[in-house]
Amino acid sequence: MDIELKKFEQLKATGELPSPRGVALTIVRLTQRDDVSSGQLEQIIKSDPAFVGRLLKAANISGRDMGRPVASVPDALNVLGVVVVRNLALGFSLVSGYRSGACSAFDYPAFWTRAVLNALALQAVVRSTGVANPEEAFCCGLLSEIGKLALATLYPAEYSRILQDLNELDDSAATTSPEAYSAALRAREQDAFALHHDDLTAAMLSDWGFPRALVEPLFFRHCPEFSGFAADSRGERMLFAVQLAQAITDVCLAEPEERPALVAPLAGRAVRLRIEPEVLENMIDGVMRGWGEWAGMLQIGVQPNVSFAPPSSVFADLLRTQQDPAAATGADEGPRILRVLLAGCDEEQRIALSAALGAQGYEVFAADNGQRALEVALSVQPHILIVDWQLPELDGVQLTRALRDTRMGRGMYVLILTGREDDDRLVEAFEAGVDDYLVKPVRDKILAARLRAATRVVQLQEEVRRDHEEMKHFAAELAVSNRRLHEAAVTDPLTGFHNRRFAMDRLEKEWASSSRSGRPVSCMMIDIDNFKTINDTYGHDIGDRVLISLAEVLNSALRANDIVCRVGGDEFLVISTDTDANAIRACAERLLAAAGQTQVESPQGPVRCGISIGVATRDASMVSTAMLIKAADVGMYRAKLGGRARIGEGPD
Ligand code: GH3
Ligand code: MG
Repeated sequence: MDIELKKFEQLKATGELPSPRGVALTIVRLTQRDDVSSGQLEQIIKSDPAFVGRLLKAANISGRDMGRPVASVPDALNVLGVVVVRNLALGFSLVSGYRSGACSAFDYPAFWTRAVLNALALQAVVRSTGVANPEEAFCCGLLSEIGKLALATLYPAEYSRILQDLNELDDSAATTSPEAYSAALRAREQDAFALHHDDLTAAMLSDWGFPRALVEPLFFRHCPEFSGFAADSRGERMLFAVQLAQAITDVCLAEPEERPALVAPLAGRAVRLRIEPEVLENMIDGVMRGWGEWAGMLQIGVQPNVSFAPPSSVFADLLRTQQDPAAATGADEGPRILRVLLAGCDEEQRIALSAALGAQGYEVFAADNGQRALEVALSVQPHILIVDWQLPELDGVQLTRALRDTRMGRGMYVLILTGREDDDRLVEAFEAGVDDYLVKPVRDKILAARLRAATRVVQLQEEVRRDHEEMKHFAAELAVSNRRLHEAAVTDPLTGFHNRRFAMDRLEKEWASSSRSGRPVSCMMIDIDNFKTINDTYGHDIGDRVLISLAEVLNSALRANDIVCRVGGDEFLVISTDTDANAIRACAERLLAAAGQTQVESPQGPVRCGISIGVATRDASMVSTAMLIKAADVGMYRAKLGGRARIGEGPD
């Protein structure tokens, strides 16, 4: 990270670089001293109510798992730590102080919208990967493009011209992606000011005391090959986190029609941090939600192309297409044309190989570096990858390893091209998941032979996959018909309510649960009064309709967790959990009243029916469900004996 310190010192000396003001400035200065007490810090924080509000919000998000809300400044200081509080003061002060400015083409609200999104995205990625402190990452994400604001502040007129020029370009490379735009902007800044916004960002963050462990990954995010980070080191993982956060921000800010093109880079970056698509989806949802809240609190204008709710549906659909090879390729009928991704080699070789492969009937895709190859692979899902070992950004072995970590990359056939046949290196490649290798220079005849072998493997895999799909389909159908059979076995066909078998089974379960919890359980046995007479007078069909409508009346008069079952011809059993003797009695009275309202039309006029109810509650003398049912039965007979249309209790 080679920041021109001298140049930065000169810029700083102008006193015009964006800097914190007021209370935030005091906090930043205070925290630079070793002897600052938390009491002093509290005092100064409390003098700015707006900052207190934002600080508590940050602390509550951070301390979510602590189980109690953070409601005071000392608590917030405790949860976040002095460094994070200082950085938040800095960030929020810059947001407030630079909402507008003299650079006419610089969209200040859009800048802060992006900054907050990026802050939340980086915080979420870091939280999920554990690569740094999420709150520090938030501040770092918020200020990750502060160099742009600095250039707009230092050189308003000139920077405005640069931005205008860039914005007027159509169809140029600069407008094809956020990444390309950023590169074009950096190039123009470099021409005009002899430094670009990333230089300035890094210098400013370092000057404000942000640790190198955060500033360096941020600085090298556009040129990772110069970072010198070892594979899988903390630095590299943080760099990937920064890149993923940026991709999330880009997708969130893109117009809906631009989003599909941005999802492949997004998915590619998530894969490198071993973040599963579902986790990524949730992350994006969370970022969008968080952004809505923070935008309100920081009073950032909402940009027109940002909606508060693009989340899961849009991203989930896009990511799912990425994720599900069959959905993306329609591969059910097997691969008629195999897709080959050619990664690496010099341009001349690539063109020659592409032509040769095309002539052999393969659909060919190409990528000139490892990161791009990963993105293309995840997006087009080639059957075969021909990968040069020497690839910029991610070499062939790293690319293979990254792909093997994904579900869709597991089945791809990887043929690696190597300059030398060194046993140890080859073992390393096979261990990473390579299927075959070819020593350069590539001879067409040998490549064709190797590809025939690859094709055979791919086709066999496809057959296995199809068989597997069929089995899955079959198993799913079986599961559905089993479920239907089971439902039929426990359902009464006339009323659609559960039957005796279900009732007994369920009562056993509720009995066991009541034994464990000590909570009361009761039941009601309900029998229609003089139902034979109804059948005899109005016919069996009307009798059936009476049964159906009574079942419905009972059901709607009961609570949602009461279970009503038809257990005999004109008999219903209700199981009421968490219900004691008084409550079941009240419930029975309600049912009695409701049943009295039941009326079915017949040619001979309206038909009404009464019911008798036996209620029983589990007591210490009962050792089984049978005893509870018996008690309810006894209650019911007592009701019949007592004159019907009433409630009886049993057994004593
Ligand atoms: P009580 O008040 O003593 O209960 O008199 P009851 O006439 O209702 O006598 P009981 O409960 O013993 O009679 C049940 C009758 O229900 C007998 C049977 O004809 C009739 N039944 C049983 N299943 C069905 C059915 O599915 N549909 C119809 N319509 N009637 C049924
Ligand atoms: Mg009856």
